[in-house]
Amino acid sequence: MSTAAVIGSGFGGLALAIRLQSAGVQTRLFEKRDRLGGRAYVYQQDGFTFDAGPTVVTDPSALEELFTLSGAKLSDYVELLNVDPFYRLLWEDGYTFDYCSDEAGLLEQIRAKNPPDAEGYQRFHEYSLELFREGYLKLGAVPFLNFWSMIRVAPQLIGLQSYRSVYDRLGDFVKDPQLRQAFSFHTLLVGGDPFKTSAIYALIHALERKWGVWFPRGGTGALIAGMGRLFTDLGGEIHMNAPVKEVTVEDDKARDVILENGERFSVDAVASNADIVHTYEKLLGKTPSAARKGRQLKGKRFSNSLFVAYFGLKKKHPNIAHHSIIFGPRYRELISEIFSGPELPEDFSLYLHRPTATDPALAPPGCDGFYVLSPVPNLGKAKIDWSVEGPKYRDRIFTYLEERYIPGLKEDLVTSRIFTPADFETELNAHLGSAFSIEPILTQSAFFRVHNRDDQIPNLYFVGAGTHPGAGIPGVVGSAKATAGLMLEDLGAAAPAKAAE
Ligand SMILES: Cc1cc2nc3c(=O)[nH]c(=O)nc-3n(C[C@H](O)[C@H](O)[C@H](O)COP(=O)(O)OP(=O)(O)OC[C@H]3O[C@@H](n4cnc5c(N)ncnc54)[C@H](O)[C@@H]3O)c2cc1C
Repeated sequence: MSTAAVIGSGFGGLALAIRLQSAGVQTRLFEKRDRLGGRAYVYQQDGFTFDAGPTVVTDPSALEELFTLSGAKLSDYVELLNVDPFYRLLWEDGYTFDYCSDEAGLLEQIRAKNPPDAEGYQRFHEYSLELFREGYLKLGAVPFLNFWSMIRVAPQLIGLQSYRSVYDRLGDFVKDPQLRQAFSFHTLLVGGDPFKTSAIYALIHALERKWGVWFPRGGTGALIAGMGRLFTDLGGEIHMNAPVKEVTVEDDKARDVILENGERFSVDAVASNADIVHTYEKLLGKTPSAARKGRQLKGKRFSNSLFVAYFGLKKKHPNIAHHSIIFGPRYRELISEIFSGPELPEDFSLYLHRPTATDPALAPPGCDGFYVLSPVPNLGKAKIDWSVEGPKYRDRIFTYLEERYIPGLKEDLVTSRIFTPADFETELNAHLGSAFSIEPILTQSAFFRVHNRDDQIPNLYFVGAGTHPGAGIPGVVGSAKATAGLMLEDLGAAAPAKAAE
């Protein structure tokens, strides 16, 4: 029986481990922290359950596939609850837009804002569907290992004007400035600047419209726990509190995985779900080709970081939607400062999460749990001492929320905690504290991301946000499919029927 190690238990690492184990490869999953999930970690605090990261679950079919290929059912492990409106968008001038599943409802709101944009929006949706078919369904889970694989798809990508930015291309269809924000902010959810990210990312719109937005009962952590259980039910082994220190390479092959505590595991193949710079530079730093690759990667543009404050209130706010996007006074300029620094911007645009809108059990009775997220420059773009600035920044955000959206926030506050770019670096080994790995611009996409299989070490693989297609749950779950396909072929293991479709 072939053996494999997966380093890191983010959505990508878990999805890959499930695919390998379910195809008969004896797989060990090594996770540095005390819980599975990576960016999808969970904090349990004072009776509140706070999902640390992803909260908008899209493309449930990609998750379902992991379970069915293993002969199981997603619904036996976790229940997905529908969230509608997908997001409530709020501006400082009081304008509100409910980004919902129902096309008639969307068109009515668009018509009320700027009548000609209703027809433009329909054309935008058609365009986004085309991107979705080409970019997601056809290419979202295939590995780009050589330049020719990129050249082959170039005509389609050029035809779809993927060389233009999401915001720019959207302007061909929708003119109203607030509606343009409403249909372009999505790239921020995967670490992309809407003014620079390839228009291909407008496919997210079609993806949401097609499959909806979901939230697991019990929180995203319940989905992670379900995936972990599926993996162990299949016979996989999870090693928690098991930071990997080194991956040895002999005769150009990855051999042993060595943990910080000195334990050593020999395997036939190694896949890293850990940060790409961390993997090449720290875990494989003794191997010259890998060390070189690590240095090269540091020359890439890394996506922004995030500041997140989790908080619980002793009062309920039923008027606040599950997902709110709160636009500040500036859009283009703010995003430019978030991606380029050199300082922490004075104003902010926020994502506010109120999971208790969908699952009240995530907070004690009569209480509401929240997190508020602010995109901020990564540690390479702005030199900020987050141990000093973090609590001040949280207070500024709380004051802003209290004044505009959550009256009495500070008085009703019963618990809170923060996660800063410095924590992304120390807790998750994220290069520059980036929240989404390499920035998803065209020149850093597909073939130009880290390959799902290393070019020099043939049994070393990558999965997760730094690889193709990129960050976000559907992205990293797609990367797991691409990587599993390569690994199973290389290991001579029978690919599960569904995985090859
Ligand atoms: C706050 C936030 C909100 C988000 N919201 C959404 C959302 O709503 N919807 C969505 O689709 N996406 C969202 N995303 C993006 C999405 O969460 C990520 O792109 C995705 O979860 C990353 O998964 P991954 O497979 O790359 O692994 P990661 O989650 O990055 O996990 C990597 C794992 O590797 C481990 N590791 C690192 N070094 C070592 C080592 N040496 N040894 C062992 N283990 C190691 C880490 O501890 C970690 O567990 C969000 C991200 C953040 C940060």
